[in-house]
Amino acid sequence: MGRVTATPTPTTEFPGWRHAYSGKVRDLYVPADASTGSAPEGGDPARLLVVASDRVSAFDHVLSPGIPGKGELLTTLSLWWFDQLAGADGGRSIPNHLAASHTLTLGADGEANTADDLQSLIPDAVIGRAMVVKSLDMQPIECVVRGYLTGSGWSEYRESGTVCGITLPDGLSNGDRLPEPIYTPAYKAPMGEHDENISYERTVELVGAERAAELRDLSLEIYARAASTAEAHGVILADTKFEFGLDENGVMTLADEVLTSDSSRYWDAAAWASGTTPDERMASFDKQIVRNWLAANWPAPREGEPPALPADIVARTTARYRELLERLTGA
Ligand code: ATP
Ligand code: MG
Repeated sequence: MGRVTATPTPTTEFPGWRHAYSGKVRDLYVPADASTGSAPEGGDPARLLVVASDRVSAFDHVLSPGIPGKGELLTTLSLWWFDQLAGADGGRSIPNHLAASHTLTLGADGEANTADDLQSLIPDAVIGRAMVVKSLDMQPIECVVRGYLTGSGWSEYRESGTVCGITLPDGLSNGDRLPEPIYTPAYKAPMGEHDENISYERTVELVGAERAAELRDLSLEIYARAASTAEAHGVILADTKFEFGLDENGVMTLADEVLTSDSSRYWDAAAWASGTTPDERMASFDKQIVRNWLAANWPAPREGEPPALPADIVARTTARYRELLERLTGA
């Protein structure tokens, strides 16, 4: 596993919060008075402030410039999905990491609003692109579910007829729907290293049989619900990635961002049905636009600094992210 581009450290500090960690896209803060980020035993769960930046990453490199408004679009979409999965879609409630009162309301202008008490914890400068969440004991597994064949799954299938070791029927093409959704976990590598596809058996070794099964079953359940919600809005959820953590009571809890265009591939259902080329079929509402441009303009092994994204790629990406949010939420 090679090193990846160093993550930028934000210079912003907010009253009441202390910067703890920056991922490629998000910045995490702990309460300024907390000595650690973990939950005090028997006490209230520790809180985290998760701020989504406009940074965009592809092939594990943070690119520049960012995508204006992306942090807010993805936060709004995550909050909408958390709400769907808490039962707004008619299904059972999936436990999530949002601090208790963090319910989403979409204002008349389509902007996400949060409950007043929580709002007061979110610094003014990041309202709309931040969440206050329970600090969980994160599971070291990226829970990937694929309903369609593409990306690294397609590459592997072409070579071996398998995706992450799972044998698939012969004769599938790039962008085809799989006979049923498959769970293809990855090991969440420590900071600065690439995630690595692993077998289900390896997840059992990492977290134990019971938790491994829980992660798989939850992931497949959430994918099925979300894919059917998306389909009702003319959108295909081709694949996605979830992260889970244990809360202070040991409950497996949905964390991180959920079902965003960063963590998922979304396609236009009508284009997929009528398209004849892979490009036509996979008209994406996600950062595939950025991935494709980078793949064409910065071939492997991708050493040194990535080239700057051209303005039209940035504009198209923003427009597609915005359109996805509008289609799904109606906002
Ligand atoms: P990396 O951690 O490798 O930098 P990344 O680039 O995906 O991954 P971001 O998504 O930018 O990182 O940052 C979010 C980080 O916050 C992730 O490491 C994620 O696992 C972590 N995280 C999300 N929700 C919680 C939570 N409730 N408690 C603790 N950590 C969380
Ligand atoms: Mg992430």
